[in-house]
Amino acid sequence: ARAQAMEIAEKPTVTYEDIGGLESQIQEVREAVEDPLVNPEKFETVGIEPPTGVLLHGPPGTGKTMMAKAVANRTDATFIKMAGSELVQKFIGEGARLVRDLFELAAEREPAIIFIDEIDAIASKRTESKTSGDAEVQRTMMQLLSEMDGFDQRGDISIIAATNRFDMLDRAILRPGRFDRLIEVPEPDAGGRKQILSIHTRRMQLDAGVDLERIADDTDGFSGAEIESLATEAGMFAIREGRTEVANEDFEAALEKIEDEESPGTPIAFY
Ligand code: ATP
Repeated sequence: ARAQAMEIAEKPTVTYEDIGGLESQIQEVREAVEDPLVNPEKFETVGIEPPTGVLLHGPPGTGKTMMAKAVANRTDATFIKMAGSELVQKFIGEGARLVRDLFELAAEREPAIIFIDEIDAIASKRTESKTSGDAEVQRTMMQLLSEMDGFDQRGDISIIAATNRFDMLDRAILRPGRFDRLIEVPEPDAGGRKQILSIHTRRMQLDAGVDLERIADDTDGFSGAEIESLATEAGMFAIREGRTEVANEDFEAALEKIEDEESPGTPIAFY
């Protein structure tokens, strides 16, 4: 059962080139996570400690997990993933021990990158209710903090956490020496959406009439994940029409379908 909450992943195949937009965020992650693992002498020479924890925060589906994977891909570090939500939902009563095991495993396999997704599940502000579940979650968080505080003797371990509930986080986890590098991963702007579209259509045959810039303009508010499903939907429409090239009308139909699904009963916004 423990393996499900904490898994040593194969070296991820995602690279920085697979990520659209987010240039400055990628740069920051590289400096905070990749450099300490690949070029530790840079930090030694300057005489500073590399960051311990990096927190990626922003709306769902914007590329946070991709960034963690891409960094891991560039290093030879062991990539260990843990889902905060699983810790508290599936492994009630075991959270603190799993966190301890997680850091032990990382120390055995260093250099290592620990990726904790949905960290808000174990590190939210204390709620009013005092149920036993909350106390359990609290213990899990305290264990995480104490592991991070005892960290500099541990060697080559980087921790990346992700959340789309930054507002809910207990500020204790953001103190120096803990998750003190905050990187905001926002929804893509039009330029970012165009890049994401190019990435997710690069293996598709596009009709000459397809204008990715126009589609990027028409998808204000879409996350990277939503743009990916738009491209897939467009491909589905082409298949349904018996075509091998995906045309502009397929993207229009896909856009309409996704907008209908997202706002049932509410008027569709005009772009
Ligand atoms: P969550 O907060 O829901 O876990 P996340 O920010 O971690 O989301 P990812 O898992 O990185 O999101 O993205 C989901 C999928 O959406 C990716 O596998 C990818 O196909 C697509 N995607 C998201 N953002 C981007 C991006 N910036 N560039 C290219 N593809 C993207």
